[in-house]
Amino acid sequence: MNNTSNTADVIIVGAGLAGLVAAAELADAGRRVIVVDQESEQNLGGQAFWSFGGLFLVDSPEQRRMGVRDSHDLALADWLGTAGFDRPEDHWPRKWAEAYVAFAAGEKRAWLHAQGVHFFPIVGWAERGGYGAYGHGNSVPRFHVTWGTGPGVLEPFVRRVRAAEQRGLIELRFRHRVDELIVTGGIVTGVRGAVLEPSAVGRGRPSSRTIVGDFALTAGATIVTSGGIGANHDLVRQNWPPRLGAPPARMLTGVPDYVDGRILAITEAAGGTLINSDRMWHYTEGIENWRPIWGGHGIRILPGPSSLWLDARGQRLPVPLFPGFDTLGTLTYLLRTGYDYSWFVLTQRIIEREFALSGSEQNPDLTNKSLLRTLGRVLPGAPGPVDAFKKRGADFVVARTLPDLLRGMNARTDEPLIDHAALEREIVARDRQLDNPFGKDLQISAIRGARRYRGDRLIRVAKPHKLLDPRAGPLIAVRLHILTRKTLGGLQTDLSGRVLGATGQPVPGLYAAGEVAGFGGGGMHGYSALEGTFLGGCLFSGRVAGRAAAAGA
Ligand SMILES: Cc1cc2nc3c(=O)[nH]c(=O)nc-3n(C[C@H](O)[C@H](O)[C@H](O)COP(=O)(O)OP(=O)(O)OC[C@H]3O[C@@H](n4cnc5c(N)ncnc54)[C@H](O)[C@@H]3O)c2cc1C
Repeated sequence: MNNTSNTADVIIVGAGLAGLVAAAELADAGRRVIVVDQESEQNLGGQAFWSFGGLFLVDSPEQRRMGVRDSHDLALADWLGTAGFDRPEDHWPRKWAEAYVAFAAGEKRAWLHAQGVHFFPIVGWAERGGYGAYGHGNSVPRFHVTWGTGPGVLEPFVRRVRAAEQRGLIELRFRHRVDELIVTGGIVTGVRGAVLEPSAVGRGRPSSRTIVGDFALTAGATIVTSGGIGANHDLVRQNWPPRLGAPPARMLTGVPDYVDGRILAITEAAGGTLINSDRMWHYTEGIENWRPIWGGHGIRILPGPSSLWLDARGQRLPVPLFPGFDTLGTLTYLLRTGYDYSWFVLTQRIIEREFALSGSEQNPDLTNKSLLRTLGRVLPGAPGPVDAFKKRGADFVVARTLPDLLRGMNARTDEPLIDHAALEREIVARDRQLDNPFGKDLQISAIRGARRYRGDRLIRVAKPHKLLDPRAGPLIAVRLHILTRKTLGGLQTDLSGRVLGATGQPVPGLYAAGEVAGFGGGGMHGYSALEGTFLGGCLFSGRVAGRAAAAGA
């Protein structure tokens, strides 16, 4: 393509995973594409680069090898029980959910595998639910970690896009921020925006917003793939639903600053419909990154089930709000306590087995595809990045005795809210339940149940033990913050990725995919997610929109 041309068959707004997948599909169909992104080239791939690379797959060879029996029907039942679709505007989201589960149980793995994507053999079990067979959560482990984590998911699409760039079919224009979609006679015919000054800051770091020029591009179709709202706390608060409680006073940020959500209003101004803005996915196990990259950078602990979870006053969370069971249920409960933080209390033995940190940079063994270092996960000792947080993280307290632990916990908060006698009573009562191989404490039953899954027993769930057993120590407390991450609602799209207008008809020339489209339809997760479904949602909706735009362009 002529470098100076300001027209193409298709314009893509956002060079994250969804945009790259759409671009690769368009180039395969021989279409000429311009991809614009407000960030610099070093940010190619967007959030996916930072991601853990966990993918929701159903009835995979990895699951079968681990003795997991899964099926499309079970996954769909889990999805619908978790999503809780209950609104008229859930028509397209529900169709997207059905199509996505079929993809995850069908060609998803083979399609990725054919492009060189491989998976860690032990399948993780995220969002375990705990309410009943129809309720929230995964009945079985489905979280497949990509060999190479997030960068490993991106790899084939970056490769395909770069090859198409060489062939002159794709042009990437960085530091191009879209401020307007051009509408001509009711048809979206292109984009207009600002050229930002060059930026040499490293990947993920906040970049300047100084404008040095403007631009306008025209095309037969425009695909918006600009991500969610997670870094824009004003938007998060504005859309915060009362059902989750009052918005927290303090939140950490789980995504880079460019996840700013500006494009939503811009697309609405061009006739697109935004739905389910009040549905979002934030975590309750955020810790301050001691080596931050973006503003307010928090890291999510992916917890195993054994830590004792206490609210700010030291009261144990109710059943079934155990670590890793119900993200939004826990968020709702915590916000009703009037505090925006909580505590894990655990032992050295638990941290070694059960703490994983989300993010490619927190898992160098998997990200760098080092077999030897990855095998180290079955050996004693916490992974290096976890150990670094234990030593340097502002939220960690490590102590040999309970009084010392308590002193450390109370010293980290504005008020000393936790009472020694109450904390001791909670822990001693819990520990007493370990005197028999059965008992009434449902968290301990859940830990025992989890260990019947080979994957959990091997690397994820510590052998049940007393927290006050000195051989399991030292004791550890971790203060947990609320961490913004994913946007579940978004631009309403039909099953071809076409953005729909107020009348329910497609806005001609306009498509959307990835997080900005609620990963398809304007919210295919409904109220809640099963995890590993976001990257997969970008892969699926990016592919759909790319192919549809190629057919229509
Ligand atoms: C630390 C971390 C761990 C994660 N782990 C997982 C996981 O294990 N499994 C999973 O499924 N998901 C995970 N996710 C979520 C997943 O990575 C994201 O939801 C997904 O990558 C979003 O991709 P996207 O293409 O929709 O948007 P993005 O990656 O956000 O890309 C959007 C791009 O659009 C650009 N843009 C925005 N506005 C404009 C504009 N106006 N003009 C021009 N450009 C613009 C941005 O600069 C950005 O480059 C994780 C995310 C993070 C941050």
